[in-house]
Amino acid sequence: MGKIQVLDEQLANQIAAGEVVERPASVIKELVENAIDAGSSVIDITIEEGGLSFIRVTDNGSGIEPADMETAFQRHATSKISSSSDLFRIASLGFRGEALPSIAAVSRLECVSSIDSSGLAQRLVIEGGSVTANEPANAPQGTDMSVRDLFYNTPARLKYMKAIQTELGHITDYVYRIALAHPGIAITLKHNGSVLLRTLGTGDRLQVIAAVYGTNTAKAMLKVEGETSDYDLRGYISKPELTRANRNGMTVIVNGRYIRSHAVNQAILQAYHTLLPINRYPIVVLEIGMHPSLLDVNVHPSKMEVRFSKETELRALVEQAVKEALGQVRHIPGPAEKK
Ligand code: ADP
Ligand code: MG
Repeated sequence: MGKIQVLDEQLANQIAAGEVVERPASVIKELVENAIDAGSSVIDITIEEGGLSFIRVTDNGSGIEPADMETAFQRHATSKISSSSDLFRIASLGFRGEALPSIAAVSRLECVSSIDSSGLAQRLVIEGGSVTANEPANAPQGTDMSVRDLFYNTPARLKYMKAIQTELGHITDYVYRIALAHPGIAITLKHNGSVLLRTLGTGDRLQVIAAVYGTNTAKAMLKVEGETSDYDLRGYISKPELTRANRNGMTVIVNGRYIRSHAVNQAILQAYHTLLPINRYPIVVLEIGMHPSLLDVNVHPSKMEVRFSKETELRALVEQAVKEALGQVRHIPGPAEKK
């Protein structure tokens, strides 16, 4: 007998959790993305103590079938892709099948889910990766995930958690951006009983900008639009007189996913050029739509970094569209508009 053995699933999940579940905000990110992928129109997020003691995400999406409940919590189990060709045209936010087993490995998790409005639901409880209940329950259509005592069984990770305010800051930062990315979904965030964000789900992105940044900011935004045969741009940028001391107000969304892109941020800043005071940054909410094959999201487990296959073209489009919105260049008429 050799010395090498394959780790059991529970241990493998705990190791993967180290990557996927960095802090409470990562749990919220994964649960909210699952809710969006399930087609939800209403998502409620409730947290206590910066998410360290309690996180609950409820949605009204498609739900999980009773027979799938345990499978959903297995490693590499997903309903979103099934072949390697799917990997090159990902239309959902999730696809790795890692979030639920990772979260369940490092918390006490309860999931109640129903696939229709019959009232019949299934309830699954997992503590530190072990299933302790899987039974019928009553609930409306959708999924209700509660995560208690995050990192209770990984003391080293728990020790690294920062003050409640810091963890809360990471959570609000993420929830604000996902709300800006999905104005068609009514999203509520509550912390220790007080409402930190409520969006109406009307599809009006300016309403979400007002909810996140205040009505005065919403009033000082300029509309951005632009397209090429590959890319479709839309969103809002702040007038040059409304700036901030850092780039945190710049939100770039690609196919419904909030991402970090140095290339896109640079193109935006280049368009403002001398209109911005030195070391000041605009507020931007820019949504970029493209065929999923032009995008590689399988770069990092958090899926926050992506690669664009035609980055030069995209940068040029972003710069042009932002300049147009700022009135820096005249609109160049397309062929159809020419007389
Ligand atoms: P992934 O999102 O990468 O597929 P997850 O571990 O996050 O992996 O979820 C596993 C599966 O559980 C999903 O593919 C989906 O079928 C199901 N699921 C998870 N959350 C929800 C939800 N809120 N509503 C409906 N189905 C869900
Ligand atoms: Mg997921």
